[in-house]
Amino acid sequence: MEHIYHAAVVGGGIAGYSAALSLKSLNIDCLWLGESLFGDKVTKSEYVRNYPAFLGNGVEFFEALQRQKEAEGVKFTKGRVNGIYRLGDRFDLMTDKETYSAFAVILCTGVDLKGTLGGEREWTGKGVSYCAVCDGAIYRGKRIAAVAASPAFAEEIEFLAGFAEKVYAFCPSVTAFEHKNIELCCDQPRSIEGNSHVSRLVCDEKTYDVDGVFLLRNAVPPDVLVGGAKTDGAHILVGRDLSTNIGGLFAAGDVTGLPYQYAKAAGEGLVAAHSAKKYLKEIAKI
Ligand SMILES: Cc1cc2nc3c(=O)[nH]c(=O)nc-3n(C[C@H](O)[C@H](O)[C@H](O)COP(=O)(O)OP(=O)(O)OC[C@H]3O[C@@H](n4cnc5c(N)ncnc54)[C@H](O)[C@@H]3O)c2cc1C
Repeated sequence: MEHIYHAAVVGGGIAGYSAALSLKSLNIDCLWLGESLFGDKVTKSEYVRNYPAFLGNGVEFFEALQRQKEAEGVKFTKGRVNGIYRLGDRFDLMTDKETYSAFAVILCTGVDLKGTLGGEREWTGKGVSYCAVCDGAIYRGKRIAAVAASPAFAEEIEFLAGFAEKVYAFCPSVTAFEHKNIELCCDQPRSIEGNSHVSRLVCDEKTYDVDGVFLLRNAVPPDVLVGGAKTDGAHILVGRDLSTNIGGLFAAGDVTGLPYQYAKAAGEGLVAAHSAKKYLKEIAKI
């Protein structure tokens, strides 16, 4: 029989870690899923001086977190969640490889500091996709653009090239691709345009005629990840208990809004964990 976790935490940053740590101490059966352990921002901090009881650089902060994680026995599962779907009293979380189920979900997915492309929200689902594995096959024989946030997405661009006739790839620090139908572009994408469906990616130097645009990033807008979630721009709307408009869905950290700070993210992770426990009691799952 499939295992249904009491709670799933999505996002490997500080908010996610704090939520997973708190759920563990609350004795809640929890799955902590994320792209990378402690997130990709932690080691980039030059000096962390505003987190209680810590002074040091980002690498030292990472090491301190790692020591605590090991000592407390908090488990981390690597994986990117491509979609979260409500099915009766549970949520299904789809990753590239597996589908997991949980009765409550805490979204700790951070924000993409580079912001959104013009037209991105308007064309989501009408030619704008955030998931190569989910939507790549739709573009068999078509022309697409892949705008990646980092070289880590090069593999997904190669994957897309297995379907598409042509891929215009915007991928920092990558100098070559294996598939011959990938054209490496150094232009700066600015906006996505179309009529009833995406038809153009407008960049600084030129405009590319495309049938679809893949935005390959670590942080997907929360309402794209969970259909029906109420947002304000890049942020998901939450109450003081960090509940969202969807029963059983909570959020914590940068994804809920400013200030973007570790201490706020950690505090919210803890509050969201307690709120998730309260919810699980109310629906009689614990
Ligand atoms: C260079 C730099 C220096 C900073 N220095 C400081 C500082 O000194 N002090 C301070 O207080 N703050 C600092 N910050 C801000 C701090 O990094 C953020 O406030 C904090 O990381 C927020 O934590 P979070 O868990 O909400 O989000 P993040 O740290 O962004 O973590 C979110 C994680 O979720 C993952 N994710 C997103 N979507 C999915 C998905 N669908 N499936 C799986 N995983 C997903 C992302 O890959 C990411 O790893 C700094 C930020 C930067 C960029």
